[in-house]
Formats: sequence, structure tokens, C-alpha cells
Amino acid sequence: MWHHKTIRFWLISLVIACVLPVTLAASFLIVHSYRQNTAFVGQSTMATSRALIQAVDAELHGVQSALQALATSPHLAAGDLAGFYRQSREALSVLTGSNVVLSDPAAQQVLNTLRPFGTALPRHGQPDVVRRILDTGEPVISDLFLGPVVSNWVIAVEVPVRVDGKIIYTLAMGVTPERLNDILRRQNIPPNWVAAIFDGTGTIVARTHAPDQFVGKKGAPEFIRRFIEVAEASVETTTVEGIPIFSSFSRSPRSGWTVGMGIPIADLAANARQSIVFNAAIAVTLLALGCLAAAVFGARISRSIRSLTAPALALGSPGSPSIPVTEIIEVDEVGQALDRASHLIAERERERAQREADTRKALVAKQVAEEANRAKSEFLASMSHELRTPLTAISGFAQLLHRSGGTLARERRIRYTENIMQASEHLENIINDVLDMARLESGHVKLDLETLDCLEIMTEASRTLELQARKSGIVFTVDTSANLPLVTADRTRLIQVLLNLGSNAIKYNVSDGWVQLSAIPVDSMVRFIVRDTGPGIAPELRDQIFQPFNRLGAELTQIEGTGIGLALSRRLVLAMNGRIGFESTVGQGSKFWVDLPAADETAAAAPRIATPRPATASDARTTVLYVEDKIPNVELMRGVVEQAGGIRLLDAQTVKDGLAIARSMKPDLVITDIHLPDGKGYDVLQGLREDPSTAHIPVVALTADAMPANMDNMRRAGFDHIVTKPFKIAELETLLRNRLQPAPAVKGSP
Ligand code: ADP
Repeated sequence: MWHHKTIRFWLISLVIACVLPVTLAASFLIVHSYRQNTAFVGQSTMATSRALIQAVDAELHGVQSALQALATSPHLAAGDLAGFYRQSREALSVLTGSNVVLSDPAAQQVLNTLRPFGTALPRHGQPDVVRRILDTGEPVISDLFLGPVVSNWVIAVEVPVRVDGKIIYTLAMGVTPERLNDILRRQNIPPNWVAAIFDGTGTIVARTHAPDQFVGKKGAPEFIRRFIEVAEASVETTTVEGIPIFSSFSRSPRSGWTVGMGIPIADLAANARQSIVFNAAIAVTLLALGCLAAAVFGARISRSIRSLTAPALALGSPGSPSIPVTEIIEVDEVGQALDRASHLIAERERERAQREADTRKALVAKQVAEEANRAKSEFLASMSHELRTPLTAISGFAQLLHRSGGTLARERRIRYTENIMQASEHLENIINDVLDMARLESGHVKLDLETLDCLEIMTEASRTLELQARKSGIVFTVDTSANLPLVTADRTRLIQVLLNLGSNAIKYNVSDGWVQLSAIPVDSMVRFIVRDTGPGIAPELRDQIFQPFNRLGAELTQIEGTGIGLALSRRLVLAMNGRIGFESTVGQGSKFWVDLPAADETAAAAPRIATPRPATASDARTTVLYVEDKIPNVELMRGVVEQAGGIRLLDAQTVKDGLAIARSMKPDLVITDIHLPDGKGYDVLQGLREDPSTAHIPVVALTADAMPANMDNMRRAGFDHIVTKPFKIAELETLLRNRLQPAPAVKGSP
């Protein structure tokens, strides 16, 4: 119950805890001072009472002394009562007594100054007093009594009158209460204080307040009992009127009279009560103000603290919370701590996100690696399958030929041989493409990026495509109408790509179909487009089209292919900083496109690549030297050269012979194998270059060593051209045409 309270509650508790003890202490002090005051009042009333009783004693004693002097009057001794009467009357004129009374031992008044001498007088008002004097021989002061002659309250101071040692009379002087009241009056007692003189019986003899009413009456019984017990004391009692008073009294040992003096308790307590009320009022005011302040400050503190609730809740959400500036330093410090915490949380969140991203990246990388691994396995499986297909044909037909032992009919032999040639060509295509791909993949293909005329490239590709289209009964057209910029690309590779796209368009087409090659400028690129009217590509197969060996089901048809053309094309295009893509509508046809970066120069300014000119009969005197130790290869070359026509083939089997023939015959072109019995093709090249008479002759390397490193070596060594085995006769023919330019004399002759 005590631990779950509002700040306001605790502040109010604090106020109460501070104000209450102070109030209690003040109250205690007030009570204490009241007590002290009462004690002081007791002392001072006591002192006054004592002084008063002494004054009363002195007064009565004075009267007694005067009486004693009068008692010795010679008139009395002489029995001259009339003389004594006169003397007494004279004495009364200077004494303060009311009258002088002479009584005989039988308590009969003999003489009373209030009556003429000789008048009959009553008995003594207090016969006991006479008896006591007769008994003790001492003066007596009587209690208050009603004087029979004065007919009023009076006290008598009475002494014995001795003649010859014998008491013959008692002489008394009456003292009226007024006389004693005068004593009280002379003391200048504060008006609210009550003072009274009591006789030995406790009867009020004189009183400051209403003496007429109370003189002759008994004092309060409780008070009388108390002053009979002790001579002096302070008591709380009530006046005869019934007013509670705090009173002190002092009793005279001589007369047995008492003076009492009191202060009404109401007066005494008034101050204390006033102080207590004042104190309480201050306490209540302080409490009220304190509680109000506590409530106000409590509200401000809790407002400040609550202002941190929203930022604290916002810790979990993104972004840094806005920390308010409050009026309380400690709250601001908590706010700053929250701010720091929010930054820490954000930092952790960032780190966690980073870790997650890293994990995701690692996961993706792993997936990619697994995918690549899977693709590689699939690739190898597909490749193995693709290689085995033509190999099966080659091996099968070769075995048939071998088994027949020459007995096979000529047409069948030719068909078998053609099948073998077709299959080997297919096999070679696959191997070339795969090697190409591998080289591209490993970055070993050196692309010869040059500035090319698009139309020239399209024309070049069209030659081959036109032939193929015609064979397949497809209409092939080239749109060369567009005004195109030059492109930057590798000439051979670009043609290779266009041929691949074009041959696909022809292959995958309908009978009487149509294929078009065109190009348009697109942004800073040139887009080559191949359109066909073929069956199109099913949407679900589209993302597999660039996968190597994936023929999208074409492998089940009669259409020839390796499934590697598009994969290779894509890599080539990417390597030439281009893009490749396609759009296709099933049943209507496809559109494949290749974007290549446009060159900076304009088409007009670009050097046109010379269109190769076919060799003519006028080049008949051109000579080619072929350095090769394997006879069948020399025979093959001879056949090729013969078919080309107008070329004379010289041959040598060693480096040494080759160089010798070259020096003497000065051929127009030297073709050399790399591995020769007495050296390398490099030696042939070096020997020719070192001799000024042969240094200008172009040298072609013809090699089965098609590994990229070797090719690079050969290129670096300075071979003008490299042809790999097995070579395409058409390629060699093109090479011969290009290299064997007619001699200027022949060119210039009519
Ligand atoms: P292929 O040697 O089989 O032609 P490619 O890589 O060139 O290999 O093409 C992959 C496959 O894409 C083809 O087998 C064929 O199914 C499909 N394809 C390519 N070009 C076209 C086209 N123009 N129209 C329809 N299908 C095509």
C-alpha cells in the first residue's frame, strides 16, 4: 500500500512530515510557557499575599499597641471610668479604630465610645474573646462578628486591663472591614485579580470585588480546607461567585488570618489559548499552502516525467524519439539517457540488419554457388550427351565402312562418308563453341573491338544466311534503309552472333516462312534485329533459352543444333559491352535483338573495312609455301589450293627446307605447321623475318594446338594469321583470297 503512490502523494506527505512536528513543538512550547507563566503568577500572587498579610498584621498590631497603651491609663487604675471614656474618645480621634469598648470579666460592656457614658450597654459581642483573654492574659484579635452596638460587621482587637497584676477589664477596639479593604486597595492589584482577607474561621473580612456582598460570608470550602492545612500554597479553586481561579494564599501565624489572591484561570489561559489558536491557524495555513504547492509541483514533476513516456515507448520503433526539454534536470538526464539508449538500440538494430543482410548475402552466394555447381554438372552431362550423338554417327559409319572391306556399293559408301563428315562437322562445331564459351567464361578471349560499319556487317552476315534460307525455303531479307552510326565491336564475333540469330530464325520457322535482318539506332547503341515467322517460344521456356545445351525440346525434332549458340552469343555480346534479348509470340514468331554501343565517329568519317575481293585468274602466278611434315595434311592443302584455283603450292617438311625454299622462291604466303621434325613453326617465322628478302612475306600458322595460351604466344610471335585444325576449307579459301592480293604490276595491267 505504501510503495505505490503518486509523486503528489509523497510531496504532500513530505509537507505534513515537515509541518506537523513544527506545529507540535510550537504547541509544546505554548503549553510549557503557560505552565511557566502559571508558576510565575503563583509566585507573584504568593508574594503579594504574604505582603498583604503582613500589612494586615501590622495594622492590627498597631491597633493592639495603641490599646495596650490605653489600658495603662491611670483613670482605669483609679476607677475613673468617666475620665477613661473621655481619654478614649480623644484617642479615637488619632487612632484608626471605629470605637473603644471596655468590658468586665463577665463580658458585660461597661463603656462604649459609640454611646454616651453611663448609658446601658449590651453584653460583649464575642464573650469567647473575653474568656480567652482572662484565660491567657494575652491580647486577642477576634474573628469577624456583628457588633451589637455598631450593628455592623466588625472585628475586635482586645487586650487585658490589669490593675495590680489582676485583669479587671478587657479593652477592645473595633476595626471595620472597610479599614482592611483599604489595605487591599492600597496594593494596586490588577483589576481582574481577586484578593480577599479571611479571618481564622475562613470568613471573608475584606475583598477587592463586591465586598458588600461577600464580607461576612465563608470563603470557598475547598480553599478554606486547604489554608487550614498549610500556611502557604497555590491552588486552583473557585471564587465564592464560582469563577475558577488560580490562587495563592498566606496565613499569618500571629492572627491565624489568611490573605488569598487569585487570577481567573480564563485570563491566565486566554494568552495560551490565543497562542495555540494562532499556532494552529499557522499550521493549517502552512499545511494548506504546502499541500497546494506539493500538488502544483507534483503535477509539474509528473508532467515532466510523463513527457518521457512517449519517447520511452518509441524506443522500440525506428527513428530517434524526440526528447522534450523539461523543467527538471534529473528528468532531462533521464531523457538524455533515453536518447542515448535509442541510439544504442538503433546501432544494434543496424548491426543486426547488417548481420542479417550478410547472412542473406552469404545464403544467396551459397545458393548461387550451388546453382552454379548444379548448372555445371548439368552442363557436363548435356555436353557429354551432345558430344556422344555425333560421335556415335562417326564411329558407327566408320565401323560399317571398315567392316565392309571395300565391298560396299559406291552410293552407300558416299552416303556413309557424308554422314561421317556431317557428324564430324557437328562435333567440331560443338567443340569450338564449348571452347569459345569456356574461354569467354575464363576471360581468355581477346576481343578485337573496332569501329565497324553496321551495313557492311549485315551484308557480310546476309551472304551466308541467304544461302541457308534458300536451302530451307525461307524468304530472307535485309533492311539496310536506316541511317546508322558506327558500332564498336569485334567484327568476327558480331558476325558470329548475327549468324547464330539468323540461322535460328531460319531453322525454327515454318515452311514458306520469312526472316528479316535489320538495325536501328537506340539511344547510344545500335540495335540489330532478327525477326522470324516461326512458332515462337513458349512463355514458360523463355528463361531457359540462354542456358547452354538447353534446346527447349528442339532436340526431339529433326532440326539440327547444339543448344549452345544462344548461350555463346549472349556471352559474346556481353563481352562486347552489349545486350541481347528477345520478344516472342507463340504461333506468330520471334524477334531477337542485340544492342551494341555506337562509336563516337560518324559513319561517313569511319574507315570502311575493305570488302574482300574474290581471287581471280589474274592472280595465277601467286605462290603458297606450306611447311608441314604430315603428307595427308599436305594433300588436303593441295586439294584446297587447287579448288581455289590460280595458286601454286610449294611444300617443305622441315624448318630448314622451308626457309631454303622461301629464300629461293619468294612465295606470296607461307603456311606453317607448329610441330616440325627439326624445330617449330616459330623458327620458320623467325628465319623468314630475319632475312630481308623474305621479311615481308605473310606467315600463317596452321595448328591443332588451339589452347588460348598457345594462340596468344603465336599472336605475340608475329604470325599474321592463325588457322586451327581442323580447318574449314571455306575459311582457308577466304584467308587465301584476303592474303594473296594481286601484285601491283598485275593489278595495274590492262
Ligand atoms: P540450337 O543449336 O538448338 O539452335 P541455340 O542456343 O541457338 O541452340 O537455341 C536454343 C534453343 O532456343 C533452340 O534449340 C530453340 O529451341 C530455341 N530457339 C532459338 N531461336 C529460336 C527462334 N528464332 N524461334 C524459336 N525457337 C528458337
